[in-house]
Amino acid sequence: MTEELYLADDTVTTFEATVDRALDDRVVLDRTQFYPTGGGQPHDTGTLRVVDGEREDRWRVVDVQKTDAIYHTLTPVDAGDDTDGEAASDPGATAGGEAASDPGATAGGDALSPPEPGTAVVGEIDAARRAAHSKYHTAQHLLSALLLNEFDAPTTGNQLYDDHAHLDAAYDRFSEADLDRIEARLNELVADARPVTSYAMDRAEAEETLDPERTRIDLLPGSIEELRIVEIGSAGADEAGLGVDADPYDRTACAGTHVGDTAEIGEVVVTGRETKGSDEERVRFALAEDLDGDE
Ligand SMILES: [Zn+2]
Repeated sequence: MTEELYLADDTVTTFEATVDRALDDRVVLDRTQFYPTGGGQPHDTGTLRVVDGEREDRWRVVDVQKTDAIYHTLTPVDAGDDTDGEAASDPGATAGGEAASDPGATAGGDALSPPEPGTAVVGEIDAARRAAHSKYHTAQHLLSALLLNEFDAPTTGNQLYDDHAHLDAAYDRFSEADLDRIEARLNELVADARPVTSYAMDRAEAEETLDPERTRIDLLPGSIEELRIVEIGSAGADEAGLGVDADPYDRTACAGTHVGDTAEIGEVVVTGRETKGSDEERVRFALAEDLDGDE
């Protein structure tokens, strides 16, 4: 198994790891900050680097999927693509000189091979894409909690991207007035600057002590024995100081990435709704910063 560093601290964007396995164009690392596709949140992208003395090999991480481990799909970065490397402008920098006659080859020759098992690598995730996912994901938690609290409408699904998102809820039909109220409430919750925290909890304990409708533990595979609980605090939870928030606004089992404080989300706009069949509604939303201003 890969150690999932983003579960402990989803603010870190650079990390060191060792290659466990290499399969064609994919590698498994012993630890990673790359979030794999799951829970309605797309995977991270970024780079992996191997630094060996003067020489640096670099790959783009173009896909991240979790099955028995976390697989990073790599494409080699050609020296010519490397916008920040001075070495790229110096053809003499390639190893041994022979490679210089082939502009497609990076130092060491076979640019298509991923790093070998045992190789130390430096990973760097694309921070802007991750930050967008974290904002949309946290906004989705707020929306799920408010639809349950104020409309008795449990979330049945959600999908986010880096510039828009949608959420499905079991509900007959949201009116225009409902959507206006949902948007206004969402932005109040954002403005409250509520803290977002997470901690691990044994599944049996969680099933015994937490509200099943809110935590939705039943949706998780039975093989998962330790849950990550994500809470969005009650209003004023920051002032209350450390300790257990007896009545958080939202408390969900979730392995995604989130912002640390709801104010980081910024203004949220409900962009529309559609029916998803009987008693199911889809609500579309986006951050104001991602809209053209003609909304
Ligand atoms: Zn989440």
